[in-house]
Amino acid sequence: MCRNAASPPWGPAGFAWVLGGADGLGVPPESARLRNDCEWFCGRVVLRGMATSWRRRYDHAGGREDERAVRLARSGGTWGHPLRVGIGHDTHRLAEGRPLILAGVRIEHPRGLLGHSDADVVLHAVADALLGAAGLGDIGELFPDTDPQWSGLDGGTLLGGVMGRVAEARWRPVNCDVVIHAQEPKLLPYKASMRTNLAALLGLPESDVNIKAKTGEHVGPVGRAEAIACEAVVLLEPAAPV
Ligand SMILES: [Zn+2]
Repeated sequence: MCRNAASPPWGPAGFAWVLGGADGLGVPPESARLRNDCEWFCGRVVLRGMATSWRRRYDHAGGREDERAVRLARSGGTWGHPLRVGIGHDTHRLAEGRPLILAGVRIEHPRGLLGHSDADVVLHAVADALLGAAGLGDIGELFPDTDPQWSGLDGGTLLGGVMGRVAEARWRPVNCDVVIHAQEPKLLPYKASMRTNLAALLGLPESDVNIKAKTGEHVGPVGRAEAIACEAVVLLEPAAPV
């Protein structure tokens, strides 16, 4: 018997045990050598168990180059269904004479977002989250604002192009969560249609898409209503079984 198997090393019994006296159950003191041997043995058992577990995992996952097993190991035991998460951010300045379009929805406001494209911060952030999760870079690489062919690019078209890239890489969205930062206008009346539109673009039910709106608390560029920003998170799963 050792303290690994008997009394825990706390409380009076534990202290007595550590000091070499009888433990709380009245077990007589053992020699230091025996106690050390016992602890050494218990430690070996624990280490051997861990090593066996690791070796089995290695043999199963990588040793035999079993593709399904490798995917299992990489997915943390979800049997070939790894999940990938991506984050996206975008900010555009508000300017006179521009339409305000968020998640593909035209919003009544005297000012709109300035940009080379339609400056839809929501769809741009979601597109970057998709690309991030799939490990495919960002929209600046795919649709550079120095290229005239992307001038006035519609956010829905951009997101459709990104979805195509993601599908080619054999991924598909699981869910999407979005935070829009806008001091003005109030977005509550538009949230439902933005959600519907974004869900359709992602090929998801509306229950898997969420849109939150925050003000800037009158602080910073968003709070002074100089800009609108957006963050998005997207989760991906394999589009086809292995
Ligand atoms: Zn943008």
